[in-house]
Amino acid sequence: MIKVSPAPCYRGKILEVDLSSGDVVRHPLEANVARKLVGGKGLAAWLLYKMVKPGTDPFDEENVLIFATGPLTGTIAPSQRGLVCAKSPLTGTFSDSYFGGHFIQELKYAGYDALVVKGKAEKLSYLWINDDHVEVKDATALKGQDTTQTNVSIKRELGDSLAKVACIGPAGEKKARFALIDCDVKRQAGRGGLGAVMGSKNLKAVAIRGTGSVEVAKPQEFFETAKKFHRILIESEAVQAVWSRYGTAGSVEFSNMQGLFPTKNFQDGHIENGERLSGLSQSKLLWLRRAACYSCPIICSAISVIRKGPYSGTVLDGIEYETTGLLGANCGITDPEVVAYANHLCDELGLDTITAGGVIGFAMELFERGIWKPPELEALKLRFGNGEAVLKLIRMIAHREGVGDLLAEGVKQVAEKVGGRAKDFAIHIKGLETPAWPPRGSPGMGLALATADRGGCHERGWPVGYEVEGIPGPSGPVERLSLEGKAEIVKWEQDWFAAVDTLVGCDFSRTGLTPEHSAQLLSAATGWEINADEFLRIGERVWNLTRMFNVREGFTRKDDDLPRRFKEEPLPSGPAKGHMVSSSDLNRMLDDYYRLRKWDSNGVPTREKLAELGLEEFL
Ligand code: SF4
Repeated sequence: MIKVSPAPCYRGKILEVDLSSGDVVRHPLEANVARKLVGGKGLAAWLLYKMVKPGTDPFDEENVLIFATGPLTGTIAPSQRGLVCAKSPLTGTFSDSYFGGHFIQELKYAGYDALVVKGKAEKLSYLWINDDHVEVKDATALKGQDTTQTNVSIKRELGDSLAKVACIGPAGEKKARFALIDCDVKRQAGRGGLGAVMGSKNLKAVAIRGTGSVEVAKPQEFFETAKKFHRILIESEAVQAVWSRYGTAGSVEFSNMQGLFPTKNFQDGHIENGERLSGLSQSKLLWLRRAACYSCPIICSAISVIRKGPYSGTVLDGIEYETTGLLGANCGITDPEVVAYANHLCDELGLDTITAGGVIGFAMELFERGIWKPPELEALKLRFGNGEAVLKLIRMIAHREGVGDLLAEGVKQVAEKVGGRAKDFAIHIKGLETPAWPPRGSPGMGLALATADRGGCHERGWPVGYEVEGIPGPSGPVERLSLEGKAEIVKWEQDWFAAVDTLVGCDFSRTGLTPEHSAQLLSAATGWEINADEFLRIGERVWNLTRMFNVREGFTRKDDDLPRRFKEEPLPSGPAKGHMVSSSDLNRMLDDYYRLRKWDSNGVPTREKLAELGLEEFL
C-alpha cells in the first residue's frame, strides 16, 4: 500500500468508529490540517469543532471522544504523553486531558494519527483495535469492575498481555461528571470528566495492539537532536532538583510556604504540617520505585505502597502535587497514608482527584457553616480533617449513592442545587474545580485560570514561576503582586503550552527545553522548516481555535471569571497575606490580555486575528 501522509512521522489516517451503527471509517489526515495545527491538541480541536454541533449535550451520542497522537508520538523524542478530548460534561467547553503510559503510542503503531469514537453502543462494550482489525466487543461481564481489574480482564480475554488498554471504572459507567479514563494502568486522563463521556457511550474500554513503526523525515538529525535533548533534561538542575528527585509533590513545601497551597476549600494557602505530604516525605514513606511516561528522562512518578495503618499493602501511583493539595490540605488532611488511599480509591473507581478533593472540601465547608447539613453528612461528621469521611464519600460519589449522587455532578451543580449562600464558597472556574495553584498570591495565575480553555486549569499557563520564583518573562522580570506585564506572560505561556500540546509533549519538559528546541525536533521529524516563532504561532492558532469552540458554545468575557473567594476575601496568611485578585484587578488584566490577543472587549477573537492565523474557515 502506498503511504499517503503529510510527512513521514504521521500515519496519515484517522480512525472513526460509530458505536451506534458499527461503521468503521478510515479518513485521510489532511495535509493542510497537519501543517497548520500539527497534531495532538490542534488536530483534536479541529475534529471536535467540525464534528460536534453547537449546543450538543456532552452526554448525547453526538458528542465525540477523540484520542490524538502528535508527530513525535512513538519516536524517541523525550517526555511523551497521550491526549483525549471531547466536549466536557463538567464545563460544556472544549476539553483535553493528558495521560502517561504507552496507550497513545500503540494507537500510532496500529497505523492511526487519531481515533474518533462517536455514537453509543447498545450495551456495555469495548473497542478492540489490532492494527487493521477493528471490532466492538461485548463488555457486559466487565460491568462494575474497577480500572485495574478491567485492564487485566480485557488482556486475559484477548490473550494479549501486550495490548494497551484505556478504560473507565464504575464512576465512568455511572457518568459521574468528573470520571477519569485510566490509560495503560494507573496513568490517568483526569480532568474534565471525559471518562463520563466514555460511559455515556457505553464504552468501557479501548484496547489497542499495534505492530507498525514511526518514521521521521531526517533520521540522523532527529536521532542526534533527540539524544541531545534527553541529555539537557537529565542534566537540568531545575528538573533534577524537584521532579526527578521528589516528583511533582516536590512543590508542596514551596507552595505551602508561599501561601499557595489550597487549604480547607481554599480558605487559606498554608496548612500546618503540610510537609508531611511533600515529595521528600513520600519518598521515605511510600515510594517503591521510580516510574516514567514513554521516553521520559525526567521520571517524575513513583510506584508506591502504603506500608502502615489500615490501608497497608495498597499499591498505587505516587501522590501527585495536585492530589496532595486537593484530597489533602483542601480537605484539611495531612496524613500521607490517608491521602494515598483516597488517591488509590479515585484511581480505581475512576474519579479525577482534583475535582474529588474540590467537591468534598466544598461540602465540608458548607457543612461546617451550617449551609448544607443533610442527615448523611451529619452521620459522616463531615468536618475538615475527617479522612474516613473523605474515603466514604469517594465511594458514594463513584457509585452515585445517596448524597454522592449530587456530589458526582461537581461543585458548580452542587452549589446551584443547594442554593442560598452555597455559591459564595463554590471554587470552580467555568465549572472546572480549581487546581492547587490558587491566585491570591499570584495575580497572573488568576488571569491564567480565568482564561484557560477547559475551565480553571494550571496546565494552560503557570505564571507562578515568573511571579514567585522570579523567572524572567518575555519582557523581563515582573513583580509578584503587581498587575503589570501579567497579560503578556499569560499569553506567552498559553501559546507555548498549546504548541507543546500539539506534539503531545509533557509540560514539565519546558523546564529544560525551549520553543526553539521543540521546533528543531518537529522540523527534523516532518522535514518542514519551523523556527521558534512559528512554533509559538502554531500554539496561538490552536488557542484561538479552542476559544472559537467555546465562543460558539456561548462563552465570553462574563465566563472569564474567578470564584468570589479569590476576588473578595484577602488571603489570611503567608507572604501575600491580605492580597486577593479583585474584580477590578481581573478586569484590568482581561483588558490587557484581550488587547494583546487581538480579541474584542468581550473576549471574542476578531476577524482580523483569525485571518492572520489562517483560521478563516472559523469566521
Ligand atoms: S515529566 Fe513526569 S509526567 Fe512528564 S512525561 Fe516525564 S514522567 Fe511523565
